[in-house]
Amino acid sequence: MSPSPVSLGADLELERTTDPIVAWRTWRLTGRRDGTNLRLRPVAGRAKPWAPERPTEAVCRLGRMHVAPNVDCTCGLHATREPDLLRRTKSPGVLGRVALWGRVVEHELGYRAQFGYPQRLALVCFLCFWQWGPLRCRADVVGYFGLGRMMPFCDDHLVAARRHGMAPAIELDARGVEQELRSTYVVDALAR
Ligand SMILES: [Zn+2]
Ligand SMILES: [Zn+2]
Repeated sequence: MSPSPVSLGADLELERTTDPIVAWRTWRLTGRRDGTNLRLRPVAGRAKPWAPERPTEAVCRLGRMHVAPNVDCTCGLHATREPDLLRRTKSPGVLGRVALWGRVVEHELGYRAQFGYPQRLALVCFLCFWQWGPLRCRADVVGYFGLGRMMPFCDDHLVAARRHGMAPAIELDARGVEQELRSTYVVDALAR
């Protein structure tokens, strides 16, 4: 789907340069087995991690010769107006508020932006987030699965993961990992 920038129906998209917009976004989490070197990464694809303490700039992954975001493409840093919309994202580990600026394409459900940086972050149990939404998805444990892959769980879903043969190699305390993540990116906790 590539909505026309001049259509005035439900597909209305506006391209604009603005003061930062703050929206919602999810990431997956990677790090070392001891809970250091934590990085936020896009939930889909093999894009580079968001670097701490500097803006992430969107790149068009389709190899198109344009600056991301482009109104006729899907590129840009994606974020939504409402956190509930993110419940459909694939196995997120972190939910947060993100500042977006530069070129911003606005659409019905959210934004695609040129620059972004997280403002507030919280680890989420993705199974709770999917079932109950943003208000009831607190993580108790962060599982380390090797090759930098980390997945936060609540206690109940960690038990379920173990039962289904998905036991993490190492289990870390989620509060410690969340504190380390917030100090890495110099951001605040997400109020819930
Ligand atoms: Zn593009
Ligand atoms: Zn859970």
